[in-house]
Amino acid sequence: MSAKVDTSIMKDLKHFGLKDAHKCFHCGNCTAVCPLSTPENPFPRRFVRYIQLGQKDKILHAPEPWLCYYCGDCSTNCPRGADPGEAMMVTRRYLTSLYDWTGFSRKFYTSEKFEIIAILAVAILVGLGMLLFNTGNPNWEHAHLNSVWPSHAIELADLGMAAILSFLLLTNVFRCFRFIMGDLAFKIPVKIYASKLKELIVHTLTQKKFGKCTDRMQWFVHLMIMTGYASVFLMVVVFINGLTIENLKFQRDVIYPLWHPWRLVGYYSTFAIMYGTTYAIIGRLKKSKAPYKNSHPTDWMFLILLQLTTLTGIFVHITRLVDWPLPTYGLYIVHMMVAVPMLVLEVPFAKWAHLAYRPLVLYLLKVKEAYLQEQPVGAEEVSAEVASAEAVASE
Ligand code: SF4
Ligand code: SF4
Repeated sequence: MSAKVDTSIMKDLKHFGLKDAHKCFHCGNCTAVCPLSTPENPFPRRFVRYIQLGQKDKILHAPEPWLCYYCGDCSTNCPRGADPGEAMMVTRRYLTSLYDWTGFSRKFYTSEKFEIIAILAVAILVGLGMLLFNTGNPNWEHAHLNSVWPSHAIELADLGMAAILSFLLLTNVFRCFRFIMGDLAFKIPVKIYASKLKELIVHTLTQKKFGKCTDRMQWFVHLMIMTGYASVFLMVVVFINGLTIENLKFQRDVIYPLWHPWRLVGYYSTFAIMYGTTYAIIGRLKKSKAPYKNSHPTDWMFLILLQLTTLTGIFVHITRLVDWPLPTYGLYIVHMMVAVPMLVLEVPFAKWAHLAYRPLVLYLLKVKEAYLQEQPVGAEEVSAEVASAEAVASE
């Protein structure tokens, strides 16, 4: 791997939120206390060093930024206040922008003005679209969303949005895969990739490595937000009318009985997201622990959009329960004006993309490990890996 030096990287990373990494004097405390650092993949000191030396290539091909869950143990124990946990978070933002071939992610992360304008533009487009494209014959007797925006039209819009999002996210995921696997990407037999798929599923669903950190509350909050969001996404996008088998259809206009699975999923998602986002917002306002000390504008935007989407969803649910047509339709427009920008901008280009990259990288590391174990001692790849490990150890 070449070690091209980019001396502007420190300056560039400041746009992504880097503040104190220059204070590091490489004592190694942070790597020693990090519960997720291993001899094969040591961090975070190494990354602070890469940043200081401008080693962009090494950052681009490294899996370690995705192995960090930002528990903050390293920052709490740094004698210089260099905030290595934040340096890892900033590196993830930077990598997300490098994986994104459209260049949108970079703009989103480096310009607050651009971020706000992009969100407002999508919100206005959605609002106008809903006002212009409807049946023109709303039911004013009862709150009946299908009488204004029929579920087949919402389903089509969902499908179109899911197709665009999947294309953008998967092409970026492919670039992440190429950077992490390097020359091994297509040398490793498919059967090894297939044999480790369980890792991908387990890490996606449980984030179990986060549980090893000292502050398990951070893991819990992370898990609440992730599971709350994922379950409501499955319900309103994947299981909405017509996409699945009859008994599992989610229908917006049906008031399900209290113990119906969809009602329970809805309540769980609402509680989980509101709990997780409120905890994180209060933590960031109070700067109560290391991961909350430095908040990037995208951190705020992520929490605000998620909380507004949930709150407007709660209001729509209430107005439907009391059967108020006009407030239901108005609030539904507002709900969509918040939810759609969050989905189309955050999922492929910003914080939600981490949900895809992190488990993917953990999975790829297992694949690589399994492949290298199968190689005879002295094979070219093993030598390269050993040489790289030795280089890392001697840094
Ligand atoms: S970031 Fe802090 S703890 Fe880590 S090596 Fe640098 S000075 Fe030491
Ligand atoms: S924030 Fe936590 S997981 Fe990340 S490098 Fe620091 S100690 Fe390790």
